[in-house]
Amino acid sequence: MAKEYYELLGVSEDASQDEIKKAYRKKAKKYHPDSNKESADEDKFKKINKAYDVLSDEEKRKKYDRFGKQGVEGSSSRGRQRAASNFQDIFEQIFGGGRRKRQRQSRGETLRINTTISLEEAYEGVEKTFEISRKSVCGECDGSGAENNTKTCDECGGQGRVRRMERTPFGRTETVAECPKCEGRGKVPEEACSECGGEGLVDEDETISVDIPAGIRSGQRMRLEGKGNASRSGRNGDIELVVNVESDEEFERKDANLFTTLDIGIGDAVLGAEVEIDAPSGTYSVTVPEGAQPGQVLRLRGKGMPSRRGHGDLHVKLDVDIPENVDEEDVEVFKKYKKEKEMKNSFFETVKDFI
Ligand SMILES: [Zn+2]
Ligand SMILES: [Zn+2]
Repeated sequence: MAKEYYELLGVSEDASQDEIKKAYRKKAKKYHPDSNKESADEDKFKKINKAYDVLSDEEKRKKYDRFGKQGVEGSSSRGRQRAASNFQDIFEQIFGGGRRKRQRQSRGETLRINTTISLEEAYEGVEKTFEISRKSVCGECDGSGAENNTKTCDECGGQGRVRRMERTPFGRTETVAECPKCEGRGKVPEEACSECGGEGLVDEDETISVDIPAGIRSGQRMRLEGKGNASRSGRNGDIELVVNVESDEEFERKDANLFTTLDIGIGDAVLGAEVEIDAPSGTYSVTVPEGAQPGQVLRLRGKGMPSRRGHGDLHVKLDVDIPENVDEEDVEVFKKYKKEKEMKNSFFETVKDFI
């Protein structure tokens, strides 16, 4: 009696392993449900795989030859995995190494770090170093997670992706997702790597230094590409650095402009003065004009924060100290001043009356 498995593959009962393999490839290609050919036939495809599972294994083949299907039924999961492994190899040979492309899609996680800098540092730009702990690819197993050998993932049969049927308002839809067990690799460790415990990744402490550019605003994010967690497929995530700029007691920042208040004495307000200002952008000598008024704003062009559109301005608001206690000499001065002012005013009033 011709044995069904040999018939399915179209080989004779004394076919060599090579012949069996070749025949299987041809048939698998023909009936593969993904092959987009008219001959695609999932049911037939499964049967062919089953036949190949048995005939490609000399042990099973012997049992099958002697006892037929009963002899090989209930084959161990190990057997199934091995068959799947063969299938995967052949699948790749036939349909190309599409798996590599998918691997590139999964990437490591983005790490987020925060730092706070002073307004001066934001003005100048500053280099900051950070101690971070990140996942990197295990050097022992090169990310495979295996101590020695890998075997085909039994979750996805080595394809690295799994199909799921989902109910949607438009009916049942089949979606393809990355296999959660092997993370798209199609292979899982036979024995977990002793260095990384099979994860394929290890924690590594690293010191990174970042040049924070001049003019950075508080809350601005910097993306350091590829500096985040590694992924087993080799594409690293990023580091996202959030830079906070400390609020300064004396200088308020609005966009690229800086605002500050300068306290001056009443004498300097009346007579004018040269005053020094210590700003984040440097130390400047400011000319307070004669007769300066409280609340008056002096604008120092280009002395604000750097920005893409050039430097902002430094706005200096004058605050005039009115003395609470005055000595006798001062009293005389103010009395004289007051009298003159009154005289002037009455003169103007008189003139006005004439007009
Ligand atoms: Zn490892
Ligand atoms: Zn898998």
